[in-house]
Amino acid sequence: MKNLLVLHTGGTISMHADEKSTAVMPSAINPLTAELDKLAALARIKEIEVFNLPSPHMTPAHMLELKNVIVQELEKTSFDGVVITHGTDTLEETAYFLDLTLHTDIPIVMTGAMRSSNELGADGVYNLLGAARVALHKSAREIGVLVVLNDEIHTAENVTKTHTSNVSTFQSPSYGPIGHITKTIIHFHHRPNRTPFLPITDLKKRVALLKVYAGMEPELVRAVCSSGFDGLILEGLGQGNVPPALVAEIDLLQQQQIPVVLVSRCFNGIALDVYGYAGGGRDLKNRGVHFAHGLNGQKARLALLAALHQENPSQALDDFFHYPAE
Ligand code: ASP
Repeated sequence: MKNLLVLHTGGTISMHADEKSTAVMPSAINPLTAELDKLAALARIKEIEVFNLPSPHMTPAHMLELKNVIVQELEKTSFDGVVITHGTDTLEETAYFLDLTLHTDIPIVMTGAMRSSNELGADGVYNLLGAARVALHKSAREIGVLVVLNDEIHTAENVTKTHTSNVSTFQSPSYGPIGHITKTIIHFHHRPNRTPFLPITDLKKRVALLKVYAGMEPELVRAVCSSGFDGLILEGLGQGNVPPALVAEIDLLQQQQIPVVLVSRCFNGIALDVYGYAGGGRDLKNRGVHFAHGLNGQKARLALLAALHQENPSQALDDFFHYPAE
């Protein structure tokens, strides 16, 4: 029989709705624990409650702790797969953090729920079962961290939460899922690229993320400079542009060895150095700004954070944020 490691971190999947107030709250005893027998036919289960946190309470420090638990458990036991339950709000960030910092071919599959355990149409146990099936599937090996909800399999790199409440909230804009779960089979239809490995053992650096808008005040970028951040992600306009008023502040950051990485606030497509006007992508590239291409802002933030913790951060930045020439 196969061995499956199930790690809980909290989120709606582990919560219940209070009958009187209807507020959705963490449960003292994780309701998923009582449901694990539903996985018994698939594998021998080891369950660990690493945290019981709403996912807006998750920090990169928690993500690192979770990564360390996985490494320790995989060293002790020969698991065939790992399932992690997590709140959906920051699920994509933890998934991508693990994708960047874990070096294993064993499937790691994250899941969550949009409806808490006692709500009508609760999707938690269903998603947990789907995630377990994927984690034990041979085609899930060697493709990095996956996210499974609502019968779809997504990569950690491309998936994002797109809807506040709909159960089909997790989508991979531009790319789509890499597989689907049916009652009888799991159908993988794409092989994704592997995310480069950026090992981390501690977290000392801080990276800020700012969304760019028409007429954005340069004081916001200046505040990043004066608040002791080690890097900045700018979620730029269109193909990767910012208002000209930000350029002098971006120059100041570069002079202080605070790297700036540009992504696009569009949720489809990649940021590129196309426009040569002041604040255009080509202008920014010439000023030393890096481009994170298809990543969204919150994931680029984790990639920059991880790159800054490498032995040679500027080399790691150049390696990670470059796009191979044709
Ligand atoms: N706010 C909840 C959380 O992220 C949402 C969820 O889990 O779906 O913990």
